Amino acid sequence: MTGFDRIVVVDWSARSKPSPARPARDAIWIAEARGGEIACHYLRTRAEAETWLADAFGQALAAGERMLAGFDFPFGYPRGFARAVTGQDDPLALWAALDERIEDGPDNANNRFAVARALNGLFPGVGPFWGCPRAETTPDLPERGTDRRDHGLPEKRGAEAAVARAQPCWKLFTTGSVGSQALLGLPVLHRLRQRFGADLSVAPFEAPETPIVLAELFPSLIAKTVAAEAEPGEINDRTQVRVLARALSRLPDPTLDDWLREGDPEEGWILGLGHEEALSRAALPLRPPPLSNDCFALPAGVDWTPVDDALALLRARLHPVTAETEVALGAAEGRVLARDLPALRSNPPHPNSAVDGYGFAAESLPEGDADLPVVPGRAAAGAPFDGIVPPGHALRVLTGAALPDGVDTVVLDEDCTLGDGRVAFRAGTRRGANTRKAGEDAEAGQVVLRAGQCLRPPDLALAAAVGHGRLPVRARLRVAVLSTGDELCEPGGRPGPGGIFDANRPMLLSLAARWGHEAVDLGRVPDDRDSLRATLDRAAAEADVILTSGGASAGDEDHVSALLRAAGALQEWRIALKPGRPLALGLWQGAPVFGLPGNPVAAFVCTLIFARPALSLLAGAGWTAPEGFELPAAFSKRKKPGRREYLRARMRDGRAEVFASEGSGRVSGLCWAEGLVELPDGPAEIKPGDPVRFLPYGSFGL
Ligand code: AMP
Ligand code: MG
Repeated sequence: MTGFDRIVVVDWSARSKPSPARPARDAIWIAEARGGEIACHYLRTRAEAETWLADAFGQALAAGERMLAGFDFPFGYPRGFARAVTGQDDPLALWAALDERIEDGPDNANNRFAVARALNGLFPGVGPFWGCPRAETTPDLPERGTDRRDHGLPEKRGAEAAVARAQPCWKLFTTGSVGSQALLGLPVLHRLRQRFGADLSVAPFEAPETPIVLAELFPSLIAKTVAAEAEPGEINDRTQVRVLARALSRLPDPTLDDWLREGDPEEGWILGLGHEEALSRAALPLRPPPLSNDCFALPAGVDWTPVDDALALLRARLHPVTAETEVALGAAEGRVLARDLPALRSNPPHPNSAVDGYGFAAESLPEGDADLPVVPGRAAAGAPFDGIVPPGHALRVLTGAALPDGVDTVVLDEDCTLGDGRVAFRAGTRRGANTRKAGEDAEAGQVVLRAGQCLRPPDLALAAAVGHGRLPVRARLRVAVLSTGDELCEPGGRPGPGGIFDANRPMLLSLAARWGHEAVDLGRVPDDRDSLRATLDRAAAEADVILTSGGASAGDEDHVSALLRAAGALQEWRIALKPGRPLALGLWQGAPVFGLPGNPVAAFVCTLIFARPALSLLAGAGWTAPEGFELPAAFSKRKKPGRREYLRARMRDGRAEVFASEGSGRVSGLCWAEGLVELPDGPAEIKPGDPVRFLPYGSFGL
């Protein structure tokens, strides 16, 4: 028997009162990994957690699935303790002895300090247990560890000696003390053991050859990874169980089964101890492989590359570079779904009424018009009617109410006459009328959203409706933006002689943000190779992809292309397009660089046409192509063959107007426009009324 279908990681708590209703720290947190999904649960009392665990074990057994349940408290005590308490070295006998002594109420009220005091009484001197609220302190259970003496037991188990952060199990009070958690946790595990008998084993005391296996965990083994994977504002206990469950669920078979056999048969063992690196690695989100060095290479001998060929090359060579992560549904708008999303339950989950009216069984209607006695009570959304509606009777039902037994059809209020506890309506109501079938929107298990979907508000509604509270998404693509040129001055600043304001950077940063990426502003870089090199280094460290503008041609001051060329990483794509000078493409320390033209109009057009679909692909959302449509031209133009042209355009009275000037520095034209007119690669002689292809800004996600 190897491999686990379900992994449950429990962060236990020794609270003496129920935890707050609002999820809080230092409470019981459970993460459950199953089928690549991780669900987190917050439980307010140990009694609730015990029920939850028993249910989960029962479900796993019923489904024929194997389950590992890990807990963050020691399963055994330092050598000698079990024998002193039970007369044998068997840690599981100690579990039974603790279950006999510990009283733990449904409200978490418990007698752990009294039990510890009594256990201390079995040993000479003072100890081994220590630490409790001042009011409970007695000479037998001292407040400080240093007040103990001569009890004769080791301070730590063998497993803990190897772990710097582990706390001794004798310490019962203040943060980080696992002693109380063990005293209040082991009795629960003992009862689960009794209940599940031969279906359950406890590692490493018993061979892990059962459908349910219990093991001891210590989230601090991978503390750094846990810290790195925390979501903003996430409660630490939740992060710990979530990340550890993910790590354990990702280990290849039979790693876990092998690890479960390791350790000391009396003192117990921390699962994964000595394998921290493998565990951390498994905890990290899957990162796609890096892009290959020649991803921008052009076929030899190519001079001007047609736009479509350039797009096809980008599409073929790039792949997603963002890692998988998980976010709360409410924070998922605009994020890219990392995996196909199945419905966790059907929507609607049960047949229900689509209107306010009266429900009955269609088959039991008389011939002709109906006049039925109305059963007392009603069915409303969230307040089902729990009786049966007898044949030939009707029940008051409201929109969204689950159809009770005996009802398959509903007649609308407006079509009814009421009186004397009866309802009358005309013949001809079709069976099933005004009802919604269970699963008519989505069946449980059916994929409702595909990986790569950029999540829009209705997608969130669907994911919520089929039961998801958290969604697997990709990390946002980090897009670094920098401008080059000695002439550039910060917008709002004081330009020097010959200076101009940096117009491209605000435009490119906001384009990246609009497309759902994380825009990283790397500022302006003068026409100086060392500064540019340093900035590109920073960009590659802080971002997944780099957009530069300016300096991308082959002139003296064109340092972007010069640097990329010197690094052997430049591909100068002479793309047959207007406006647009050569596009410099390259990899800088593994990060793709889009060297955009300096002219704002050309920079804008090249970003929409080339960078947008490439960024979308890198982000995991797939290639995107703008949807355009044909319009009659409101202009005349003669076009030479060789380059595809994009004109700043807008639609007025159903016709495409173009901006009066084609000057590539005229930023105002971009604002006048509401889209682009795309003219084909070949020659064209366009007269008013001729069809031209219009691509509204909206088709570029603007
Ligand atoms: P370059 O590609 O560096 O030769 O620049 C081409 C033209 O675009 C020059 O007139 C530059 O001054 C202008 N330019 C370059 N970068 C920017 C920018 N960030 N904002 C506005 N104009 C720019
Ligand atoms: Mg320049």
